[in-house]
Amino acid sequence: MPVFSKVLTRDHNKTHAVFTFTVTGDAQEILIKGDYRPRIIEDPSLNQQLILPAFHRYIESQKGSFFTDDNIPHYEKYAVERFTPIRNLIDYTIVDPEGRMRARGSGSFFETKQITEEVASIGCIRGRLPAGEWQLIVEAHAVATPEVSVTIEVEVNNSITPGLEATQKRIKERTRVASLEQTKNQSKESRWYKGDLHVHSYHSDGTNSLDELICYFREQGYDFFMLSDHNFYAGSQDDLRGDFNEVVVLPGVEMSTFYGHALAANWPRDLPWFHLRQDDDFRELISTIHEAGGLFGVAHPYTIGDPICTGCRWDYTNLEWGMIDFLEVWNGSWLERKIEVIQALKKWEELVNSGHRIVATSGSDMHNANREKGVAATFIKADSCTAKGLFDGLRKGRVFVSQGPNIGFYLSSVATGERCSVGDELRVPQDSKAIAEISLDVTAQVELVQDGWPRYSATFDACQGKLEFTDEVTKDTWYYLRAFDRENNLLGFTNPIYVMVE
Ligand SMILES: [Zn+2]
Ligand SMILES: [Zn+2]
Repeated sequence: MPVFSKVLTRDHNKTHAVFTFTVTGDAQEILIKGDYRPRIIEDPSLNQQLILPAFHRYIESQKGSFFTDDNIPHYEKYAVERFTPIRNLIDYTIVDPEGRMRARGSGSFFETKQITEEVASIGCIRGRLPAGEWQLIVEAHAVATPEVSVTIEVEVNNSITPGLEATQKRIKERTRVASLEQTKNQSKESRWYKGDLHVHSYHSDGTNSLDELICYFREQGYDFFMLSDHNFYAGSQDDLRGDFNEVVVLPGVEMSTFYGHALAANWPRDLPWFHLRQDDDFRELISTIHEAGGLFGVAHPYTIGDPICTGCRWDYTNLEWGMIDFLEVWNGSWLERKIEVIQALKKWEELVNSGHRIVATSGSDMHNANREKGVAATFIKADSCTAKGLFDGLRKGRVFVSQGPNIGFYLSSVATGERCSVGDELRVPQDSKAIAEISLDVTAQVELVQDGWPRYSATFDACQGKLEFTDEVTKDTWYYLRAFDRENNLLGFTNPIYVMVE
């Protein structure tokens, strides 16, 4: 039996090793069983030593932002308690001789995986087992202890082992999704649709099947969600065909690498990343995604990084930011992650000020179906609640992000009478007036931001209908709106309306 066995040291951090094994023409099944030890750091003082620098890097961003907090020692203690113990993290990927990914040991590293012609490993495609040299790629995401001993056994069999758990999950899912498809009923209306652009299923490290996610989002009153399992297009071609009854499932992938995570939207295929170096500019990868009609976004750029969430913070040094389509400004819960939301919002303002029309989005990054408080939905204005309609709306920036209120924001030109909504471009004569029209369905503090600077703020009363503010336009500019509650918690924000002087 082929066995990969290696002792990894800290020098192996963020590297991968390739191990090959042979599959003969009469093979019926491949079983993969992985283990590594130790899994965590036991020593409390070593945990603290590793956690504090990552934590300090994380909170550095709050300086000078509209959110400040002097209670750092309290947070330090909380961080050490929350993030102890630090884990070692090893994943693997199995690639067949035709270059297709056939199994992934992420989240389920310690489960036995089975691949046959009829049965795929969760998250991968099924199909025949081509004879030849197969690759096992072992990814060292985090070696936090001085040494980690990794063993992965690969068993190639001429018969099929019955009753493995992963197989049962997959059979259940395929049957249920097929029945949902028969009753599809998409909305053809042009309006705002509520959704989530970052969701994991059990095809990567989430706990829910696609079917469970669809039921969950329907109950929550969502119109759509995008699957974003790690590196693989979840569910494979069999399970996901686009639009289902009441809740639209959008195809996507979250590329999780050694130096950051990115979302490929409208991308119904796997996304290999092993070729990326830390100084990659991403031009080639983003062009490939664009050519196929997809969109590229950076996910949770300022989240806590190594060694707490290894590879999660954006640490690529050379990204061509102007090529990205969207930035996930709000990931997870505001209550837990306001520091990184604010920093991402600042980064996004800087990018828009440099002339890049990048769309600001949110994503729950949900790994199991329950609503965390403080999570924001992404609202997209689309001609229809279909993959095409929603991705078109996203591409045009017809998007607002909110953890509650519906946010209405319009801008009109006094001179021409033209009225624009979020994502649009308003053309006005030099030195003419523009009227901003603001409406919400809750009482909130609203702030109209011009070129990244607060321009006008007021208390909006839910009974008031709408609020207007008139501004003199002297140059090309852009405005967006954000709303806060009484405790200065961000309730939501829109994307810009761009104003071009003629
Ligand atoms: Zn991520
Ligand atoms: Zn994620």
